[in-house]
Amino acid sequence: MENYTLLIHPPFLKYNAGPPLGPCLLMQKCQEENLPVRYLDLNFEALKRLCRTSSRSSKLLSTPMGDHARDDFLLEEAESDFFSELGFLNEQIPIERLKRAQINLDEVENFDKSVSFPELEMLLSQNYPPRAVAFSVMVARQVIWVIFAAQKIRQKWPQTKILLGGAYMGILDFFDEQVGAEQQSTWLSLVDLIMIGHAEESFACFARKIALGEDIVWGRVAKGDWNWNPASSGFTVRETRVYREFFSTSRPMVPVQTSVGCKWGKCKFCTYPIVEPKYEVKSVDLILGQMLELACEIDGVLVIKDSYVEKKRLLEMANFIQCRIPWTACTRLPDAAIPGIIEKAVKGGLHTLEIGLETIDQGLGKKILKPQSKKQLHLVCKEAQRNELVLVLNVIWGLPGQTEGQAEKDRYFLKNDLPLLYPDLHFHLEENILELERGADFAKNPEEYGITPEMSWPFAVEIAYNRPTWTKLFLEKECLV
Ligand code: SF4
Repeated sequence: MENYTLLIHPPFLKYNAGPPLGPCLLMQKCQEENLPVRYLDLNFEALKRLCRTSSRSSKLLSTPMGDHARDDFLLEEAESDFFSELGFLNEQIPIERLKRAQINLDEVENFDKSVSFPELEMLLSQNYPPRAVAFSVMVARQVIWVIFAAQKIRQKWPQTKILLGGAYMGILDFFDEQVGAEQQSTWLSLVDLIMIGHAEESFACFARKIALGEDIVWGRVAKGDWNWNPASSGFTVRETRVYREFFSTSRPMVPVQTSVGCKWGKCKFCTYPIVEPKYEVKSVDLILGQMLELACEIDGVLVIKDSYVEKKRLLEMANFIQCRIPWTACTRLPDAAIPGIIEKAVKGGLHTLEIGLETIDQGLGKKILKPQSKKQLHLVCKEAQRNELVLVLNVIWGLPGQTEGQAEKDRYFLKNDLPLLYPDLHFHLEENILELERGADFAKNPEEYGITPEMSWPFAVEIAYNRPTWTKLFLEKECLV
């Protein structure tokens, strides 16, 4: 056994907004302290394998890695393959999957032991296991894979400590409510420590203890508990070069986060208000200053990962960056529609602006507490076209009360009319079907929105609900009205 911690980023995250921030922040902290931590991105490794398999070789390597201008099917396929192998059959029907996965964890305990995930097997084939394996869970869809991997690691390397970390491990709060102590112990036998988000200091402390061969007392490292030390050094990141070869641009992406939480924080479908309820900002000069220096040094692109950059801050960033490198950010439509704002931001180097549009139906927009108008959308498209700014428009279909006819009409407008009206505009439409996530207001007050939750499972952040049948094949349909 070797005295180091292996930090793993698990599979099934789309890199559509640059490299993952969590593991980068953890690595940065450990490197500052010279701690023996190695980083392995199994998501990245799995994608490399997928890109090389014959049936999928036609896809460009950058396809699943975050080029907004292309579709990204590879990860969906990989996830579907994996879940089918595990025994979650009929993947298209989440309700069936949830029914099979009994709350008493039978399903998890009975994962078919013969199932393998090549990148994990390769890791387990090495002769000298690390003293600890830590998983940085970035999104809910990675949780099942991590449970599977933890089982395999326990089996093969019983002495190795296992840590699960990330905001989504906070689902254990729900877990506590739903299962009894006996069942909890089954689950807890798989892991030694749970760490809930923004815990770089605590992770460094864990890595130090591992390196010194000190005992790790089982527990959850959360606010108020033993050794909770939320990140205090700001949100800068340096560990990004590993991704360089796979982004379509030859310029490496440098992720940076200058705030936690969301200043708007009201949208009824969103879990941000729960996962990161307090909006905190860091000084633009301080954080961007460090990262700008790095990005300039390696001729990179700054990927600003803040959930929502409001108008004032967008301009502050533009003034600070001053066109020294290209950068990307995410905002809301009303901010982007303010006259002159796009022009000023582009003059400051803004290359791509992502907008959480969600819907172009004003009534629905008000209902989900994200009021935005078509007039604002036109203004933004016009300005983006004029200033050669790339737009990414995120939309959600199947919002409560939306009919198939309305959705088809709006989709036709976005996919067909918009390109005709703005022929020189570079934009990508990122389409999603509504997911009901625990913690979001939709899930807390479902009857208010005509939503009926049907099944939930402790390991799933998503709740099955009476999703309109038309949404099932909606995205696969040709866009015709
Ligand atoms: S959807 Fe975006 S703007 Fe709305 S609360 Fe969530 S992060 Fe904030």
